[in-house]
Amino acid sequence: MPIYRCPRCLATDISADAHPTRVLRGAIEVQDVMVCRGCYRAAELEFRIACETSGLPYAPQSIREGLRRLAFFYRDRLAAWSAPELLVDDADRDAATRPIRVALEDVERRLRLAVLEP
Ligand SMILES: [Zn+2]
Repeated sequence: MPIYRCPRCLATDISADAHPTRVLRGAIEVQDVMVCRGCYRAAELEFRIACETSGLPYAPQSIREGLRRLAFFYRDRLAAWSAPELLVDDADRDAATRPIRVALEDVERRLRLAVLEP
């Protein structure tokens, strides 16, 4: 089954409940990091401390950018579930991907609202 665990605690499946954060590798901000709800605050705090330690400016993550990254992440999770080599029947796939589809719909709705804001 295509389970996607939080890379920070390695415990929680974040396939349908991910939180976009950032990490600093050297002086480069790496943006493609998703963590679980429980790790999110600590991960952002670590990023902020890493920026301050390296003398780099810290800026809060843009909401629109975070939503855009979440939408990509959830679409990737759905794509992983629809891979032909994955031997699951349609009913199981449907049940397993329902929370991901709900999460993606929510993100897309919030993204449409964010686009309307100035
Ligand atoms: Zn975690």
